[in-house]
Amino acid sequence: MLSLKNIHKSFGGHQVLRGIDLEVSKGEMICLIGASGSGKSTLLRAVNLLDPVDDGEIWFDGADIAEPGLDPQPVRQRIGLVFQSYNLFPHMSAAENVMLAPRRVKGLSRAAQRGRVEELFERFGLGHRIDHYPDQLSGGQQQRVAIIRALAMQPDILLFDEITSALDPELVAEVLDVLRQLRAEGMTMILATHEMGFARELADKVCFLDSGRILEEGTPAQMFDAPAEERTRQFLSQVL
Ligand code: ATP
Ligand code: MG
Repeated sequence: MLSLKNIHKSFGGHQVLRGIDLEVSKGEMICLIGASGSGKSTLLRAVNLLDPVDDGEIWFDGADIAEPGLDPQPVRQRIGLVFQSYNLFPHMSAAENVMLAPRRVKGLSRAAQRGRVEELFERFGLGHRIDHYPDQLSGGQQQRVAIIRALAMQPDILLFDEITSALDPELVAEVLDVLRQLRAEGMTMILATHEMGFARELADKVCFLDSGRILEEGTPAQMFDAPAEERTRQFLSQVL
């Protein structure tokens, strides 16, 4: 479904991605783990075409979307990215926040969207919050609204960048529940995370990034119980 080949990216002479290869199949959940600065966010931003890569290919639906000059908008509609900071518009209700992009980008009226959006809020336990404003919602609820907002575009792939790291521990669980549910529904996802327990439970494949390379990848059992590389062992011994 998505295939990254030899992705390179530098910022001002500093090589941040140094030859990333990654295959993502439909319905898979891939977890990217690795130390701060190893390139996880940069990789997700590259796939979402927020930052152009310097070299390499990103194959998605029969086209290389890393091709210079390609219009990123249609790709971003199909590959959603959810950030740590949920960035909801404070002057809009939760429902309005969710309906904004489909309205602007796909021309779907509020009336046309309302039923499906209500369903999404119900599905993720927020039916009673749909018309609340962001400041009336907890951090975990706001993050769930941000995920619903990404889902409203009906993406083929969702990317998540440390979506629980700004949350109090007791709110993390409700956001992880949403990911658990999406996985059960067969959504294709790539997740940069420090939640090792979650990676172990749900990932089909765990990739350990080290200085802009995927040093090692494997099933959670391989990666957490029997990592082959000394660097992976070191990292895991610090975070587990
Ligand atoms: P964390 O776990 O802290 O989120 P990360 O693995 O997501 O880390 P990145 O944010 O991808 O790491 O950053 C990788 C490296 O690239 C870091 O050294 C960072 O300083 C650098 N970097 C990222 N974005 C930029 C930018 N826009 N300009 C310059 N350097 C950048
Ligand atoms: Mg990051």
